[in-house]
Amino acid sequence: MANVTTEETNGKEKMNFLEEIINEAVARGESRVQTRFPPEPNGYLHIGHAKSICLNFGLAQKYGGKCNLRFDDTNPVKEDVEYVDSIKEDIQWLGFRWAGEYYASDYFDQLYLWAEELIKKGKAYVDDQTQEEIRAGRGTVTVPGTESPWRNRSAEENLDLFRRMKAGEFADGEKVLRAKIDMAHPNMLFRDPIMYRIIHSEHHRTGDKWCIYPMYDYAHGQSDSIEKITHSICTLEFDVHRPLYDWFIEQLGIYPSHQYEFARLNLTYTMMSKRKLLKLVQDKIVMGWDDPRMPTICALRRKGYTPASVRAFAERVGVAKRDNVIDLGLLEFCAREDLNKVAERRMAVLNPLKVVVTNYEEGKTEEFECINNPENPDAGTRKVPFSKVLYIDRDDFMENPPKKYYRLSPGTEVRLRYSYLIKCEEVVKDAEGNITELRCTYDPQSGNGSSSDGRRVKGVIHWVSAQHAVEAEIRLFDTLFTKEDPNDVEEGQTYLDNLNPASMVKTTGYLEPSLKEAKAGDKFQFERVGYFCVDTDSTPEHPVFNRTVTLKDSWAKMNK
Ligand code: ATP
Ligand code: MG
Repeated sequence: MANVTTEETNGKEKMNFLEEIINEAVARGESRVQTRFPPEPNGYLHIGHAKSICLNFGLAQKYGGKCNLRFDDTNPVKEDVEYVDSIKEDIQWLGFRWAGEYYASDYFDQLYLWAEELIKKGKAYVDDQTQEEIRAGRGTVTVPGTESPWRNRSAEENLDLFRRMKAGEFADGEKVLRAKIDMAHPNMLFRDPIMYRIIHSEHHRTGDKWCIYPMYDYAHGQSDSIEKITHSICTLEFDVHRPLYDWFIEQLGIYPSHQYEFARLNLTYTMMSKRKLLKLVQDKIVMGWDDPRMPTICALRRKGYTPASVRAFAERVGVAKRDNVIDLGLLEFCAREDLNKVAERRMAVLNPLKVVVTNYEEGKTEEFECINNPENPDAGTRKVPFSKVLYIDRDDFMENPPKKYYRLSPGTEVRLRYSYLIKCEEVVKDAEGNITELRCTYDPQSGNGSSSDGRRVKGVIHWVSAQHAVEAEIRLFDTLFTKEDPNDVEEGQTYLDNLNPASMVKTTGYLEPSLKEAKAGDKFQFERVGYFCVDTDSTPEHPVFNRTVTLKDSWAKMNK
């Protein structure tokens, strides 16, 4: 069982450790807050990135500072403009605006000059060893590394070789530039880390200008420094990188940005690795990056999540300093909480049972006025047609009901939402004994929430008029993985063995006619059923609705 926790669930405002750090700085008179969100454009953003976005942009907002968007595009092989565009769209959708849009590749010239500077100072050297030799020479946590035979080249020779690396004289892997620090350092990252490698590959922005590319550790801190970032926030696994981050800045004597680490977001039943998500897309296991079962921001959007619900989720999760796993139920809870306020109500029957109102005039239609959103009077009302043949949900009828069953059963009465009382007089079955139809009567005096003799009826069920109903494809989603931790696998298996074969179930629904006009992205509560959103596949001829989330809230109950 995963360690399922949330940082704060009692709704009380609690300062996170970064806010505490900033408040202390403000008290010292250092009030400038400049953050950045630094995605590598090698995939679509997911809910974990949303957490980081809300944190970086949120802190800047709270303290009157700025947050940059910086693409960490130092690896030309995996990166693409498609990802750059999607990242920008997702951040804006979440409701944030960046102060500046930057690219690590914009700093390649400066980074190169700084590398020459370090070479001249005797702090960097060109190494001819192969990747394997370098790896073997690093040693282990308990065994010190061994120095490269090329470690003591003169500054002149290093400068010459580095310039020739840049000029394209060498093949991929033939040489690297390494920082000259300490091959016996207890922090393995200090054992002469690689600063540059040769990659003869077209870059999505710099084209073929460069064939040497800086490593993360050499590029990130200096990019922060160039932008005068005050709080460079990243996830916990980078804490061992922090001393190296500081080392480069110190050696170069440039603006001292500081790195702070927080726990990455993990969610139950959710895969957060971009590489593994990419495989799901490439192998067509899902419909694309925005398949509503994906944890990507574009998928949440397509599924019907609102930006406010994602932001609220990030806020509730808080900022932890130790790794934990958040219950997926909390994300769904946040979706419900916001959709309840903003989604208009509609009636839709997903599992239809035909009801014939025997004493209602054939061919007659009347309309009932229905409230669009009881949470928001401004949402107004709409008219819903009623006629002799209706659909109700199969779950709202029981032939042999237990005690205290208030929905429909033989001989009992139920209220049709916003409409008449009906009474079940007869159950019609086919040869196999399946119920095919209910024959009911209605009380003509009961149309405005009343009844002919003041009697009270407890059950209220939803319905649609069969003749007016819009038929739509309904996609019901469950988790994409069957295990709380999708990476929890038996020997010889992979996360793909944990895929949930029932993660998407398609069914046909019968919707009240006002839904005919709904456009992709429109969100509704289907009364008593769940929250639904018009899918991007939807057309007027073939409407498609996604279930965003059910109405049942197990998370809130569990966490009362
Ligand atoms: P990669 O393996 O490609 O580096 P990544 O998920 O780290 O994947 P980045 O594009 O480097 O992706 O991430 C951009 C920012 O988002 C980084 O600052 C990173 O720390 C943060 N981030 C990534 N995943 C999470 C997560 N699960 N929770 C919180 N922040 C995250
Ligand atoms: Mg990363």
